[in-house]
Amino acid sequence: MSRILIAEDEQRIASFIEKGLRANGFSTEVVADGVTAYGRARSGDHDLMVLDIGLPQMDGFAVLALLRRDGSTLPVIVLTARDSVQDVVAGLEGGADDYMPKPFKFEELVARIRLRLNPDRGAETTVLRNGDLSLDLRTRQVGVDGRTVDLSAREFALAEAFLRHPGQV
Ligand code: CA
Repeated sequence: MSRILIAEDEQRIASFIEKGLRANGFSTEVVADGVTAYGRARSGDHDLMVLDIGLPQMDGFAVLALLRRDGSTLPVIVLTARDSVQDVVAGLEGGADDYMPKPFKFEELVARIRLRLNPDRGAETTVLRNGDLSLDLRTRQVGVDGRTVDLSAREFALAEAFLRHPGQV
């Protein structure tokens, strides 16, 4: 059974994630501040962490930075405020494996968790498409008209944000 650490100070969101993950066969632990999140993430007791950026005592960026400085390879999915591209970019550059903009659909979070736990599976569910453009969220490769293009983390995050909200300003 995969063990998921949930670092989220909003109780409503934390229990929403926790209930859903348990129903999907994961074991869970919830922490509500950054200091505890860092301590628990270092314990080796978990297979993945869902990390909110806005946490008391120490924010999610600081937690992530300390963990990566320690050499931790714990997969981390960052929860960011809706459409905050700066948060997304900073999270990815800070060593996050993936991110979820809030509010999110629970099914999408579970899909991303499964993907990070089993990186070889579910490739087909991780490709965003619009016209001739395709974005592979797993390999972070972008296809335009059949050609493959490599993007920086920042460019990729922007492209993903656009593809998730087609037609919006
Ligand atoms: Ca928060």
